[in-house]
Amino acid sequence: MRYTGLIEKYRDRLPVSESTRIISLGEGNTPLIKLENIPKELGKEVDLYVKYEGLNPTGSFKDRGMTMAVTKAVESGSEAIICASTGNTSAAAAAYAARAGIKAFVVIPQGKIALGKLAQAMIHGSTIIQIKGNFDDGMKIVKEISNHAPVSIVNSINPFRLQGQKTAAFEIIEELGSAPDYHSLPVGNAGNITAHWMGYTEYHEIGKSDSKPTMLGYQAEGAAPFIKGSKVDNPETIATAIRIGNPQSWEQALKLSKESNGWFDAFTDKEILATQKMLTEKEGVFCEPASATSVAGALRDIKLGKIPEGSSVVCTLTGHGLKDPDTAIAQCDQSAMINVNPTLEEVKKAILDHM
Ligand SMILES: *Cc1c(COP(=O)(O)O)cnc(C)c1O
Repeated sequence: MRYTGLIEKYRDRLPVSESTRIISLGEGNTPLIKLENIPKELGKEVDLYVKYEGLNPTGSFKDRGMTMAVTKAVESGSEAIICASTGNTSAAAAAYAARAGIKAFVVIPQGKIALGKLAQAMIHGSTIIQIKGNFDDGMKIVKEISNHAPVSIVNSINPFRLQGQKTAAFEIIEELGSAPDYHSLPVGNAGNITAHWMGYTEYHEIGKSDSKPTMLGYQAEGAAPFIKGSKVDNPETIATAIRIGNPQSWEQALKLSKESNGWFDAFTDKEILATQKMLTEKEGVFCEPASATSVAGALRDIKLGKIPEGSSVVCTLTGHGLKDPDTAIAQCDQSAMINVNPTLEEVKKAILDHM
């Protein structure tokens, strides 16, 4: 059977009916890649996987939620959607709105979204409202706007978003045969960690997994409200996807963290970028900076023994590295670029000098 997206696949666990028109781009069904080289170097016996959500149609896990949110918006007769976004939500909203034939308005922090995401929002034809403020400022306005304009909010406060996103946990259980011991995610609004817990809990309840994972949430130090224990007024990090100071799923995330015996921790931008680079160089997997936070966290806690040897660990790589080419290039060694004349001699020399 042709794969036609996660709503079709998980129809019986999602709030759709026979007559619902499904707005899909074939999202979901992403690879679960077992890391080989990094665990070997670490010298620890762990089964470490990355769920490569960057391979969704618009390059991030947001597509899982957006297929549901836009499907339900269209079902309810909505002709326009709106979101506040650090970038990926706007890319997904723009694409799914185009597919549905409705309008998308995206509210983004001026100058603070990665180039690839901006390109997506623009090329899909959404109306971009740039604000001189951050994501949290945009979110505050978007939450009130539906009282003033005929638009459906498709941020993760829209419960259909989390319904779609929970399917990532279903896929992992189906692939591993049960839930992993630990699941690690980067945390911004904390919608995705909440959705994963929902998915794991549902599959546990119906007997598809005999266990549930310990949930680990990792943030950037400059945007770490869960570590601080309160809102952060001026969040700052190079990992723009998690540059959020006032998480919308705060209560749910605290609750699930406690329930699963999990924890939160934070990393510097330097550590996040080093992990992003390590994944590309040692495993061939290119994720965006925010995504690498999940692996930075898992690796540190494996090293510390907080995650014991013998464990299985899944890290969500939330978005594709191509989303943010500027940050990728900026951290590469420019001397790896060799300029030569177009002669056999010079190309040969370049190779032999660098073997
Ligand atoms: C949205 C996003 C996050 C954060 O997810 P939340 O549900 O807001 O916690 C992390 N990484 C990437 C790439 C994202 O797009």
